[in-house]
Amino acid sequence: MTDYAVEAPGQAVLPIVGSDQVFPVRRIYCIGKNYVAHIHEMNADERDPPVIFMKPADAIVAEGGEIPYPVFTGNFHYEGELVVAMKSGGYNIPEAEAYSHIFGYCVGLDMTRRDHQAAALAKGLPWEVTKAFDHSAPMGPISRVEDVGHIDDHVLRTKINGEVRQDANVNLMIWNTREIIAKISEQHELKAGDLIMTGTPAGVGAVVTGDVIEVEAEGLAPLKVTIGAPAA
Ligand code: MN
Repeated sequence: MTDYAVEAPGQAVLPIVGSDQVFPVRRIYCIGKNYVAHIHEMNADERDPPVIFMKPADAIVAEGGEIPYPVFTGNFHYEGELVVAMKSGGYNIPEAEAYSHIFGYCVGLDMTRRDHQAAALAKGLPWEVTKAFDHSAPMGPISRVEDVGHIDDHVLRTKINGEVRQDANVNLMIWNTREIIAKISEQHELKAGDLIMTGTPAGVGAVVTGDVIEVEAEGLAPLKVTIGAPAA
């Protein structure tokens, strides 16, 4: 037994649909600017390459959970996304082999402090404060590829208080999941337990305390979370 000097952090996990096992989360990679219509609503250039950033695994909020309205923002945005769960990895994974490394899929939310993202972009600052804060990564249960196949031509929807705000087929991604895996693995060694958030379609917007966010994709278990009172 390792004799830790302070309390050891716990392992973040996600439930697996139809299984008593859980999926241990290692890293959460995220792709920005991956749907043309969202790039246009953000007034960005669609010819730019996609952005890769990360969220900490302990930012996960499970299905049915509550997200405290975060400190340090006045413009808290939802971004509903398809999420890929890896069962293996490596460097320089060829697109043709990318599917063989996927364990399954879930839906997730890339919660964003949009006011600080604008400030970071304007000043060339890093994105932790805008993307990698506590409770910034709600995730639904993972469905296994062996049960649902690959999610590449399926409609992804985000509802706020029951009203559809985002509604797009994931086949509209600029970089598809195989290309994303190939791209990330040029820079980072992907490993079992990694999650990849694949970018959000158009229709992002702000939420406030009391709002209910639902994300659903054809073939996958839905995610529902509530925005709670301010964290501090
Ligand atoms: Mn996003």
